[in-house]
Amino acid sequence: MQEMLKRWTVADAANTYGIKEWGAGYFDLSDGGDVVVRVETESGPAETRLLDIIRGIEDRGFGMPVLLRIENLLDQQISRLNDSFRNSMKASGYKGRYQGVFPIKVNQQAQVIEEVTRFGARFNHGLEAGSKAELVVALSMIQSTDSLIVCNGYKDPEFIDLGLQTTRIGYKVFFVIETPTELPIILERSETLGIEPLIGIRIKLSSRAGGHWQDSGGDNSIFGLSTSQVVDVVDRLKEQDKLHCLQLLHYHLGSQIPNIRDIRTAVRETARYYSDLVNEGAAMGYLDLGGGLAVDYDGSQTNFVHSKNYNLDEYTADVVEVLVSVLDEREVAHPTVITESGRATVAYSSILLFNVLDVTQYTPGYIPETEPEDLPESLKNMFEVRRMMTVRNLQECYNDAVYYREEIREEFEHGNLTLRQRALADNLFMDIIQKIAALLKKVKRVPRELEELQEGLYDIYYGNFSVFQSLPDVWAIDQIFPVMPIHRLAEQPRRRAILADITCDSDGKIDTFGAIHDVQKSILLHELTKDEEYYLGVFLVGAYQETLGDLHNLLGDTHVVSVRITGNGTFDVVREIEGDSISDVLSYVEYTPKALVENFRHKLEQAVRDGRISVAQRRKLLQSYEAGMRGYTYYER
Ligand SMILES: *Cc1c(COP(=O)(O)O)cnc(C)c1O
Repeated sequence: MQEMLKRWTVADAANTYGIKEWGAGYFDLSDGGDVVVRVETESGPAETRLLDIIRGIEDRGFGMPVLLRIENLLDQQISRLNDSFRNSMKASGYKGRYQGVFPIKVNQQAQVIEEVTRFGARFNHGLEAGSKAELVVALSMIQSTDSLIVCNGYKDPEFIDLGLQTTRIGYKVFFVIETPTELPIILERSETLGIEPLIGIRIKLSSRAGGHWQDSGGDNSIFGLSTSQVVDVVDRLKEQDKLHCLQLLHYHLGSQIPNIRDIRTAVRETARYYSDLVNEGAAMGYLDLGGGLAVDYDGSQTNFVHSKNYNLDEYTADVVEVLVSVLDEREVAHPTVITESGRATVAYSSILLFNVLDVTQYTPGYIPETEPEDLPESLKNMFEVRRMMTVRNLQECYNDAVYYREEIREEFEHGNLTLRQRALADNLFMDIIQKIAALLKKVKRVPRELEELQEGLYDIYYGNFSVFQSLPDVWAIDQIFPVMPIHRLAEQPRRRAILADITCDSDGKIDTFGAIHDVQKSILLHELTKDEEYYLGVFLVGAYQETLGDLHNLLGDTHVVSVRITGNGTFDVVREIEGDSISDVLSYVEYTPKALVENFRHKLEQAVRDGRISVAQRRKLLQSYEAGMRGYTYYER
């Protein structure tokens, strides 16, 4: 009772959604209960309400959903990463430098790569290319020839020729050997063109990391050379007098490594490889520690898969300290440290914003106050379960209710129960479940089976978005992203809900949410009001989500709007990219929109001839069809 009387405050909202924990100082709540973005601008710190940005976008003519990019956040993450390495190196007396590269695959969108290279130029932050297409992008987008381009992935002669020739104009393009077959091709092309290659090798570490992507590292990883293959490469290079070309050692343990201990172990193992390669006579000079720097999606600061038990400064300090200790012991010069942090660099800068279209609430069905007399046995039993329920027999009541419901369904199938009787039984069952759920709050140890009982009783909020298009990892690997309303947070949210998207797929939903000590099966949301849109944001979606998305139900790309926050409450819309129209998505699956219109026109003409519609009706219908073709694939108000 006490709790119910306590007034809801914005601080309660911050706790409920964990925004201070996952927001990394970028996202917070205003006193008025709105989500704000905080950035550093040239004239000092500034904050802007997301709601104002949404208004700005809508005033410019774009409807929801929108993928919002905040350029300042991308810039700031690049700065934080570089500054942190710099500081850690200074603190540990590290004599080499740090030079990061951004792996293009994490977000290939032109605008993102453009911003990374433009802003990254001051740090000589380079690019990692995993394919020919990505190399083509990197060569053109990189702004400073002092930035590095690291080529991983399978490389054919064409790829190698292109990379080799650009070294003539001063580019630093490293070819990282991932499989033994690549070396002869690189050497042959280099011989033919008369250009010395910069060679790196990717190793398979025996260290492994926990988390979703653990298979990228470790002995069973499909990429990288085993120790004996490394020795072969060294011998081959020695034979051909090319050991001076071997300058880089690389590993990639996998993405989103939640435990700092795994990171340290991998760096230690790699440092040993590195010093032995130096002792073998390889030129070396660069140590590329790959990606893996994690994002704390649930804000728990733990080694849970969606979190991490370290912050950026701890990461860089640990990496540098381990390197110093191993390399100094062996008297090996400190190399330039490269990391390929993708996720941590871009995750923060994108937010998926959408409006809620509709809500299905759980409403209790009708149950008569007194038990009707002429009920079949199974229904009487259901009433009995409901009457007998106490805190002590919840599991038993649950089992009985499930049993009788099955029995009732069977009787209905065999024609022994009427539709009304079945409906009464269903209402009774839901009522029992709800009562159990309420009583569970008073139980110390909740039986596992009953833990998720609440689920069937949650509201369903229908959001104007597609999980498959905009949040593919939610569907594919049960990724958790922070989700919350972006306004009305001074008001207590009273509905427990899950989110459904507008695909009619049963997987098109978000029903797992981050919580500080756990995951939650529902989220607290506000009641919809008549006169105001209700906006939700899915945060930290800048990494991996954009190009993995697919055209499920032919819902296409959302609009993308990039803003730069310029001061308190002010922002520039830097770019607007219109999302797919219906005609766009139809052509992706090989329809010809023009031919579709033509076809439809014929059908209409036939209908006019048959006297089923008038010429005026024909015109109107055709107009609707053509307007539909041009429309946004999402729900338009
Ligand atoms: C995917 C990938 C990365 C990016 O990893 P993050 O965890 O996103 O930083 C880096 N290097 C390689 C080789 C990759 O395949």
